[in-house]
Amino acid sequence: MGKIMSIANQKGGVGKTTSSVNLSACLAYLGNRVLLVDTDPQGNATSGVGVNKADVSKCIYNILVDDLPAEDVVISTNIENLDIIPATIQLAGAEIELVPVISREIRLKKALDSMQDSYDYIIIDCPPSLGLLTLNALTASNTVIIPVQCEYYALEGLSQLLNTIRLVQKHLNKSLMIEGVLLTMLDARTNLGIQVIDEVKKYFQDKVYRSIIPRNVRLGEAPSHGQPIITYDPKSKGAEVYLEFAKEVMANGERVG
Ligand code: ADP
Ligand code: MG
Repeated sequence: MGKIMSIANQKGGVGKTTSSVNLSACLAYLGNRVLLVDTDPQGNATSGVGVNKADVSKCIYNILVDDLPAEDVVISTNIENLDIIPATIQLAGAEIELVPVISREIRLKKALDSMQDSYDYIIIDCPPSLGLLTLNALTASNTVIIPVQCEYYALEGLSQLLNTIRLVQKHLNKSLMIEGVLLTMLDARTNLGIQVIDEVKKYFQDKVYRSIIPRNVRLGEAPSHGQPIITYDPKSKGAEVYLEFAKEVMANGERVG
């Protein structure tokens, strides 16, 4: 059975989507069958792998709200070994529409159960909130990867996220574990980055990945071309480090169950 990993942090702009897209693409490049699941109404992971949201007729909304089987919503991407369950702006209503629904936190888990045998990794890109969409993602996951931006107040807000993870472990998904903490957008020209790395390592210790994602212009450009960095500019520093990161994730244990 494939391993299901959420990429979560309720702060916006910390590199969740960039890491979801590029981890997925690098794992696929390394020969794994990968499913990327977009749970952010902004649909940036969807467009980031080259899917035109205007062409998407069914999205994750239909899984969560209309009970459509995941098989009916999955589409393949131009990247070998990589499929996606897309998100469109339609998903914006789901947080509210799901409130009165029975088992509203376990709907994604139920849908992904049938997909786990078809993939080696299922990566879920979470929205920047701790609402029902993120709860669905954490409940469906074996582990969670937390991206932390190398900036002042890097740790701010993380206690809220950790508290949510504990609540999910207690009530919805006992076996959820923290897969690792990924430092992102390091600006090598400043000392601040080094301080933040020390601070985050003191807090999360050996959970922090050795790979640290640098701030890299090519990484910022790739989404507007609908490509992960590994096809957009395979020789860039960003491509090199995301590939290293994917190998670290693989070394951490491939499958569960
Ligand atoms: P989140 O999903 O957490 O909101 P994103 O991955 O969308 O964050 O990143 C926020 C913005 O920063 C995006 O415009 C993205 O292209 C850019 N970005 C992310 N990581 C990097 C990086 N390592 N170097 C340069 N730009 C980056
Ligand atoms: Mg995002």
